Amino acid sequence: MSTNDSTVRIGLILPDVMGTYGDDGNALILRQRLRWRGYDAEIVRITLDDPVPDSCDIYAVGGGEDAAQVLATKHLSDSRGVQAAVAKGTPVLAICAGMQIFGEWFAIADGSRVPGLGLLDVTTLPQKTRSIGEVASAPLLDGLTEPLLGFENHMGATELGPDAAPLGRVTAGTGNGVAGGEGPADDGGEGVVQGSIIATYMHGPALSRNPQLADLLLSRALGVDTLDPVDVPAQERLRSERLAAGRR
Ligand code: GLN
Repeated sequence: MSTNDSTVRIGLILPDVMGTYGDDGNALILRQRLRWRGYDAEIVRITLDDPVPDSCDIYAVGGGEDAAQVLATKHLSDSRGVQAAVAKGTPVLAICAGMQIFGEWFAIADGSRVPGLGLLDVTTLPQKTRSIGEVASAPLLDGLTEPLLGFENHMGATELGPDAAPLGRVTAGTGNGVAGGEGPADDGGEGVVQGSIIATYMHGPALSRNPQLADLLLSRALGVDTLDPVDVPAQERLRSERLAAGRR
């Protein structure tokens, strides 16, 4: 898999079952932003047929529905590479169902609670109605200053425990949401940050909409304070359009 020691390895976790709404694109975006800056970078596709390596420099996992989540959780629990990587402080980006499976447990459609990986202090129960549409938030994580933008599509409401912090404060859309009936009041948060894991309900793929978040993850993966800026006018146009749409 690895070509040489200086190649940055991006572990794409279970693209065969997790990766709705173009979430696989997050790995492509990380690779491209590295290449624009002269780094060698490769995507390591980790499927249900593979043991999960702990040696990647950064990991990304996308969303999926119940059956995919259960399969993914079983594989990641059995093959403990991602847990070992997180213990070493390797950055992980987890989207939607990817966020839910990193938590303590998540409820599926039949009402049962599936134990997660226990790497995020969160639990997920169903909302009264599915959240579908644009989601925007003001970032709460040090190093992020730009509004976070994405597209959400989830039934689950994710409640944070004391060890987890929200990634942003919702300004449009639902974000982490509130469970129908048995959950606490909506705390207005979007996403979760805990240790080296950044998780969010933003599809999109999230990193095409949020270059600052992409670069924060990359600077952590590379162990550098800053990265040379890259100018992508089309991306800025998209962000301006989406921000304007969110204000209407
Ligand atoms: N099945 C989960 C939910 O509806 C996650 C969906 C997704 O990843 N888009 O909450």
